[in-house]
Amino acid sequence: MEIRRIGFIGIGRMGWPMARRLLEAGHAVSVQDAVPGRAEEFARNHGGTAAPDAAAAAAGADAVITMLPTSREVEAVVAAIRPVLRPGAVVVEMSSGEPSATRTMAQDLAAHGIAMVDAPVSGGVARAETGQLAIMTGGEEAVLARLHPVLGAMGTTITRCGDVGAGQAMKALNNLVSAAGFLVSVEALLIGSRFGLDPAVMVDVLNASTGMNNSTQKKLRQFVLSRGFDSGFGLDLMVKDLSIALQVGRETATPTPLAAQTRELWAAAASLLGPGQDHTAAARFAEALAASELSSPQVPRKG
Ligand code: NAD
Repeated sequence: MEIRRIGFIGIGRMGWPMARRLLEAGHAVSVQDAVPGRAEEFARNHGGTAAPDAAAAAAGADAVITMLPTSREVEAVVAAIRPVLRPGAVVVEMSSGEPSATRTMAQDLAAHGIAMVDAPVSGGVARAETGQLAIMTGGEEAVLARLHPVLGAMGTTITRCGDVGAGQAMKALNNLVSAAGFLVSVEALLIGSRFGLDPAVMVDVLNASTGMNNSTQKKLRQFVLSRGFDSGFGLDLMVKDLSIALQVGRETATPTPLAAQTRELWAAAASLLGPGQDHTAAARFAEALAASELSSPQVPRKG
């Protein structure tokens, strides 16, 4: 059965461009968000239908996509929409959630003839806008095959990682690697800066050398040295992802001293800086420890 009618719950920084991509691909999309007026604003700008609540967005849908902050919001939404979902419908959980919570929801839905898969994403707001997200999936192969055209409207690399929850485990582990790379790169810039190196020159050398990583390529100049701290991915969400990675580590009895230290440092940064920060502002935590600020005459300041 072709998937045409889609309910999309959570049109935040990521969900908004993802839902727009689905409309552009020809799907009938009904959007909903907890922020009053946001769904109506989306529909005015891009089309589709603004639903007053999650159940209204899910009624009659072939698939319901959730793109919410954490598994807690997803659990509340799934409980609200379950009575209106028809057998054969699919819940596509695209948030970076907890694999064990998603598995529990999938079991409950399966008892009502409703499938659930997880399909979290990587690539940030920029790649959500262009439909070039990396999507990591977990769930039954046949269900994921049906969803392929839907996911293909939002992402270019779609990788099945295993059963339901496997995509979210992979996503949390990706962000663990990304978070550790970011912080150690910032610490390297702080050491170099105090030694007398220009941090922008350091970024260029790292990018031509073996220290290159996603942060040296796409974050340090753009969001740290520019002092913009505006990547569009929240600091609290990164701490959540690191907690999920450690949770999976505990569930698999894996010793993870470096991962635990990484989570502690990011959680300390979130605690020091307060709510509402971009994740790249974690550099300011490392700067506070070093009593130094990173900047370069080569990189214009934003704002
Ligand atoms: P966001 O906070 O910008 O958006 C979340 C949206 O969900 C908000 O608009 C909020 O109002 C809405 N919401 C919250 N509870 C709701 C509820 N009960 N019902 C309906 N709507 C509700 O977050 P985001 O940056 O878009 O991230 C969403 C998910 O994607 C998170 O799990 C995050 O970790 C993950 N993610 C984010 C990025 C990024 O770069 N921002 C990249 C990859 C993955």
